[in-house]
Amino acid sequence: MALFEHMEFDSHEQVVFCHDKVTGLKAIIAVHDTTMGPALGGTRMWNYASSEEALTDVLRLSRGMTYKSALAGLPLGGGKAVIIGDAKKDKSEAFFKAYGRFVNSLGGKYITAEDVNIRTADIDIVGTETPFVAGTEGKAGDPSPHTAEGTYLGLKAAAKHAFGNESLSGLRIAIQGLGAVGYDFAEYCAKEGAQLIVADVNEEAVARAVKELSAEAVSIDAIYDVECDVYAPCALGATINDATLKRIKAKVIAGSANNQLATPAHDKVLRDMGILYAPDYVINAGGVIHVCSEAANFSLEETAARVKAIYGTLDKIFTRATDENRPTGEIADEMAREILAAKLAEKLAG
Ligand code: NAD
Repeated sequence: MALFEHMEFDSHEQVVFCHDKVTGLKAIIAVHDTTMGPALGGTRMWNYASSEEALTDVLRLSRGMTYKSALAGLPLGGGKAVIIGDAKKDKSEAFFKAYGRFVNSLGGKYITAEDVNIRTADIDIVGTETPFVAGTEGKAGDPSPHTAEGTYLGLKAAAKHAFGNESLSGLRIAIQGLGAVGYDFAEYCAKEGAQLIVADVNEEAVARAVKELSAEAVSIDAIYDVECDVYAPCALGATINDATLKRIKAKVIAGSANNQLATPAHDKVLRDMGILYAPDYVINAGGVIHVCSEAANFSLEETAARVKAIYGTLDKIFTRATDENRPTGEIADEMAREILAAKLAEKLAG
């Protein structure tokens, strides 16, 4: 298995393959870049078909965290970890303790947190072996309210560029997913006078939005076909793909979901279609800001100010994308790399 030649390698600082003979733990910890600070990123547990698949996933996700934290102005680098295994069968206290010892062996270069299939309780066990954990029980708590607020502010920045006015009043917003983030986001939009069209597999959440927010409910498939100004993916990844783009009528795509684009090439497709896309890792950064507030001891005011800054960051991305007629995702990546280069130059000079 090639590492340095891997397509997603992108100059990772360190990649650690972890194996514990007693518990059978197999994990990969990827530290992409620590220019801005220690690499913070969750641990994902997944039954990968092969170690190659796990390696590709961890490298891609880890680089994403570097860019996300850099653009959110956080004193954090980017890293991520994957555990190869079945979350229903393979978890045990000894398993997570073994994992915690591997995290600890990196001496704070990598700080871990929850991700897909990893719960707060699992991270609490990891935390018995290492202080390098965030998002544990009783600390910063649920990041979703900050993610929702950042997504709402990011949508306002997009509305300003696409419709000439940051107010959401009168806009038709199609929201996919009314979970922890999606429902709060829907509340912000409704409060400002937007008309909501919503879809979720959870009928209770839909009924609540209809009752409390005067939303119009549609089926989970029909959400792509509705007449709307904004499509807000707040549930699944990869919903922006060749099939859905034939159906989505929105001029703005702005939502909290991770990995919204089916492929990186869809960034350019959206530009060509005249749809303004708020890059997912920029608009949903409220969550990482929240988790960082625990690791970096931010005051409540500082955390709130950083979440509010998502508006300005997206405003800059949209302005530059328009001026240079380039895709917004490409601009976001470039701006993140500029922040890293400036910090590196500062470090080398001083
Ligand atoms: P959640 O699990 O609380 O909510 C997801 C919602 O989507 C649920 O209500 C679920 O029923 C619904 N859903 C599932 N499949 C659906 C489908 N096919 N169509 C419509 N609805 C469907 O998750 P969340 O914490 O609200 O996160 C939402 C998205 O935002 C995820 O992609 C997540 O990765 C991303 N995100 C969340 C945070 C955070 O702070 N929670 C931070 C950054 C990114």
